[in-house]
Amino acid sequence: MTSSNPGREAWFEGGDAHCENPPRALEHPWRLVLLGPPGAGKGTQAERISKKLGACHLSTGDLMRACAAKSKDGCVPLSGAMQEAVAAMRRGELVSDETMCRLVAERSRCLACSRGYLFDGFPRTYAQALILDEWLTRMGLQLDAAVNLEIDQRLLIDRLGGRRVCPKCKATYHVTGNPPKVEGICDHDGEALIQRPDDRPEAVKTRLEEYDRSCEPLLRHYEETGRLLRVDADGTPEEVLLRVVDALQQRAPQVV
Ligand code: AMP
Repeated sequence: MTSSNPGREAWFEGGDAHCENPPRALEHPWRLVLLGPPGAGKGTQAERISKKLGACHLSTGDLMRACAAKSKDGCVPLSGAMQEAVAAMRRGELVSDETMCRLVAERSRCLACSRGYLFDGFPRTYAQALILDEWLTRMGLQLDAAVNLEIDQRLLIDRLGGRRVCPKCKATYHVTGNPPKVEGICDHDGEALIQRPDDRPEAVKTRLEEYDRSCEPLLRHYEETGRLLRVDADGTPEEVLLRVVDALQQRAPQVV
């Protein structure tokens, strides 16, 4: 077990980039995919799980946001695939499977990383999952598990529907779970808090239904290939992390 946090330059820069802080090879590098609907706490768990396992947190959303910010500065040229991906993200669309796979292929060095990794945001479709399996098989590697964070839809609607955000500093609150000191006002800068339009209950319901529809073939694929780990995501971040570690331990008791 290790708690260090690798630099991830190879992931963010792609191509021949090396991580400045070269990863230490682990006896059992975990190769995982993290799945879960919006509001299930995927971002929080991705950080915690990867830290706990000493694996790299490879988030496609983080990657694209970082590249979008760099391209705004105009100082770093983006690959053709990354330009297409950033444009799709800015239009609020999903990136096509073909572009997405080119993007990850530009980072194929990460797939062979000797410290392992936790994919977050990829694969998002059945086609992407098949390509990932194919790449790993060609490298003589395999995905250990797809960890699916599961939570009741009503709880998600409450979690996301109660979320309030400061438009200035981006701090997030929850009307009951994590309220600001003064109702409706940011603790940090006194700005009036807002509810993001996609956090309104009707929008949340639509987002969740869309997620279920698109994710179902992916879950079925991992279930049928014996790699799906279902984890109850209703609880504190610490409780959920323990459940994930427990589930992994049952898979490979000697290494967690
Ligand atoms: P996320 O932070 O994972 O929600 O990703 C932010 C945005 O990046 C998404 O809304 C998509 O536009 C794009 N994106 C990230 N990962 C993928 C993927 N695997 N397939 C398609 N689009 C993706």
